[in-house]
Amino acid sequence: MKLKLRNLMVLLGVVSLSQSLVYGSSLSLKYDGSTHVYDKTPITLYVNNMEVISEVMPPVQIEGYVLVPIREVFQALGATVQWKSSERKVCIEKDNSLIVLELNNKDAWVNGEIKEMEIAPKEINEKVMVPIRFISEALGYKVAWLNNERSVHINEQTSIIQSNSNINQDFSNNQIISDEISQNNNMSYMNEINSIFPFLNYDSIAQKMTISDGGAGISVSDITVNDNYTKRKMTFTINNSALEDVKPGSWKGKIGYLKAVNVTKTNSGAQITVETSSVCAVDLSKGQDGIVINFMKPNQKYNKIIVVDPGHGGADDGTRCNGVKEKDITLRCGKALFNLLEADNNIKVYMTRPEDWYATAGDGIVGKQYPTLDMRVALSNEISPDMYISVHVNYVENAPSASGIETYYYTSSDKRGQTFASRVQKALVEEFGLRDRKTKHGDFYVIRETNDPAILIETGFISNSNDFNTITAPNYTERFANVVYNCILEYYNEGLN
Ligand SMILES: [Zn+2]
Repeated sequence: MKLKLRNLMVLLGVVSLSQSLVYGSSLSLKYDGSTHVYDKTPITLYVNNMEVISEVMPPVQIEGYVLVPIREVFQALGATVQWKSSERKVCIEKDNSLIVLELNNKDAWVNGEIKEMEIAPKEINEKVMVPIRFISEALGYKVAWLNNERSVHINEQTSIIQSNSNINQDFSNNQIISDEISQNNNMSYMNEINSIFPFLNYDSIAQKMTISDGGAGISVSDITVNDNYTKRKMTFTINNSALEDVKPGSWKGKIGYLKAVNVTKTNSGAQITVETSSVCAVDLSKGQDGIVINFMKPNQKYNKIIVVDPGHGGADDGTRCNGVKEKDITLRCGKALFNLLEADNNIKVYMTRPEDWYATAGDGIVGKQYPTLDMRVALSNEISPDMYISVHVNYVENAPSASGIETYYYTSSDKRGQTFASRVQKALVEEFGLRDRKTKHGDFYVIRETNDPAILIETGFISNSNDFNTITAPNYTERFANVVYNCILEYYNEGLN
């Protein structure tokens, strides 16, 4: 690691002198719109066993967390630190890690994923100050706090530095307050995509892709978006002759949400297929240079989100009786519920299994597939819905008298799953008059492993003749979907999301 000493002062032996200069008796800190008197004992900071003293701001402890001036400290660690003033965001890069922070926002972007910090970065006395433990650990450093000395020690665990070439930053056309400190940290980002597709630009900090139209005037209405979320793949079909001459091509890598971009030509324009690292939502708008596609997490775009999970599917029939398969009933019910929610402009709905089978590509599995329990849970956890609703059909061998509806929740501190399960159970029993087997705690994978409120409905026993007749009746699907849909509306009316 090569350090440029002009960016920091490494002082050995004159510590007491500089500290008294920096601290005096107390500090006046301006942040969060007011001035605070800070008179805590000074904190000493060591990076790789050398003391680091910031010329302008010492480390400070606020709400119990140590904040340090981002530029001085993390450049001393060999990271590249860049400040994008227009968006009040700062980008820290080291080896294969990219962290993006926004002032006064606890959400940090760590390699494309949002992680919550204990305290938001703050502008203190006009310096960007960040929680040192969070950032250090996200970059792979070891952090130690010695309480009696009030010192923080940061050390590199390993010094594997991977070399990358051909790299550029999109900060270049914005205000940059620092430069690269180590050539080894040169990482490739935004312009990689632009070098393959001259009409595309991706800003990995803002997570925005611009489709340049060269002034030809592509409008948002020229673009059709197809969100194949089970594949984390989004297709933008652009019907505008401005893109007639684009060159087809493909890019693979990891920039923010993006994993791959594929461009093909169509008769009336072009098609851009984007593979993302997790389920994304997009907003399209008209920008100065063309169309701007803003990528975000679903819950950043939608206020109300439901995930519908039709149980089983594909090679897994679930239970079966008299030639009727559980997977078909659950898919019919799931689709009917999906359609009602889809028609409701206030609610965004996703399905874990939109069809019986679905074809796969690009995820290492060739051919037809249905989602595993892991895939269902992963999908839901990326979406972070207000409720995950799994639909199933019951069966018991040699016990034709067993019958009725039951709804499961997984007991957790969040009681919304349990509350919603009771509501659905009551409404389904009222609607169909089947035996009330009540709501129960169930240790089922999909409701246990999903991070958000979840229920699992057992609609009835396919092995019981009365239940069988009810759930295979022609109008059952619509009735079921209506009941659950109304429960969802009540759930939202009560402000449970
Ligand atoms: Zn089942």
